Amino acid sequence: ASDGGKEFLGHPRGLFILFFAEMWERFSYYGMRALLIFYLTKHWLFSDGDASVIYGAYTALVYITPVLGGYLADKYLGQRKAVLFGGIILTIGHGLMAFEGTGGQGDPTINIFWLALAFIIVGSGFLKGNISTIVGQLYPRTDVRRDGAYTIFYMGINLGSLLGVAIAGYLGENIGWSYGFGAAGVGMLLGLIVFVIGKPLLLGKAEPRDPALLKKPVAGIPLEWLLYGIGIASIGVIWVLIQYQSVVGTLLLVSGLALLGYILYIAATQLPKDARDRIFVIIFLLMLQPVFWGLFEQAGAGISLFTDRHVDREFLGWTIPTTWFQSVNAAFILLLGPVFATLWTKMGRRGIEPSTPAKFGYAIVFVGLGFLLLVWGAQAFGVENATPFYLIILLYLLHTMGELCLSPVGLSAMNRLAPSHMAGLIMGAWFFATAGGNFIAGQISKATGAENATEGESAKQLFLDIWTNVGWIAVGVGVAVLVVAPFVKRLMH
Ligand code: GLN
Repeated sequence: ASDGGKEFLGHPRGLFILFFAEMWERFSYYGMRALLIFYLTKHWLFSDGDASVIYGAYTALVYITPVLGGYLADKYLGQRKAVLFGGIILTIGHGLMAFEGTGGQGDPTINIFWLALAFIIVGSGFLKGNISTIVGQLYPRTDVRRDGAYTIFYMGINLGSLLGVAIAGYLGENIGWSYGFGAAGVGMLLGLIVFVIGKPLLLGKAEPRDPALLKKPVAGIPLEWLLYGIGIASIGVIWVLIQYQSVVGTLLLVSGLALLGYILYIAATQLPKDARDRIFVIIFLLMLQPVFWGLFEQAGAGISLFTDRHVDREFLGWTIPTTWFQSVNAAFILLLGPVFATLWTKMGRRGIEPSTPAKFGYAIVFVGLGFLLLVWGAQAFGVENATPFYLIILLYLLHTMGELCLSPVGLSAMNRLAPSHMAGLIMGAWFFATAGGNFIAGQISKATGAENATEGESAKQLFLDIWTNVGWIAVGVGVAVLVVAPFVKRLMH
């Protein structure tokens, strides 16, 4: 590499440290998430609606906190220290998940569960965005290998997700909750160890901008330790917040509007016309994020409850564990990620590659169609019969095609369209918009909860009715996006 470090597969070796550290982190995140909705409904005996709202608030907070974690890393800690601190907090959080108590409403052990969620939320805030930023920092500004590096990194994310869901899901479902969550914790510990041992391969990148400032005492404590102290104190705040999920919704709305206002203010007052136009494109893309993820992220809630109760999971005389269906998306990403990357390059060469806004339009059409195909399939087999599992796999195939049109594409668009002094803020806004989608996914899953079924409408029919509505809305929004895409593209200059 240009900085004298050794390479592996044409990339700095540090990339593979980040690959394996993030692989294990996602192993723990998705392994735990695969069990979460069932843990809430079957162990703590929450209603589907309450469990879904908790799921939505938790996953939303996981994607809100990277905004703050990114800010602290940019300004003071540097990304490496932030990731290390986040990794420690995450390991403790997943460890705490292993305390299951007796379960049921009224078991005080649930407070340890809330605390575990708070640890994971704060740990993710320090780790998730920052580890993605280090990837880019391994390369000089103009290095063409950066896009490839992010593709490899996205593979690590999904390899971790696949293995985590397979192992933690299986153990949690068949042996005991503690074993599943414990396995997730062990995975996170391995990620932390990889990151610590691999430090020399990061070649001194992602270090604090001003190391002397970090040693400077503030109120008698070195600033660095004060920041860690604030991080730990915020776990206490989140511990309370996660128990009042409707506050999370209000928080999202208010801070989302504030963030939007702030970005528009900077665009209006400080940017020349072309850069301002690009900010409008960014905002347009950000507003579509909650629509996409609001449908997609039902995977960990409503779709899983449906798979558990209304789907025939027999295959060659063996019942496929319900949680495993949450790994189908990751498996399809590993299979199709390279196909889509090649497709865009080939289309690009012939001048027929869809623009970024158009890809977002297709993504939203795909995610809607995924639901509609499942509904039609379930109706064709008769709603009163168990739905064949391959229809769920078909839904995840369409959702994954959508993800590949939106998620990696969007990440690189944020990088490309934002003025460099706003890059961190815009990346934070990207994750923030994802958080909105997760919250919405919880709300839709609440609506599909079995307790809302009436005499005229069975629990299964309720799923199908609501999914028909959200499916058509998404297809409509997606088509509208495709119609306006050429105009939005012109603003990208
Ligand atoms: N699957 C990706 C990840 O875990 C993206 C998830 C998202 O943005 N909601 O990083």
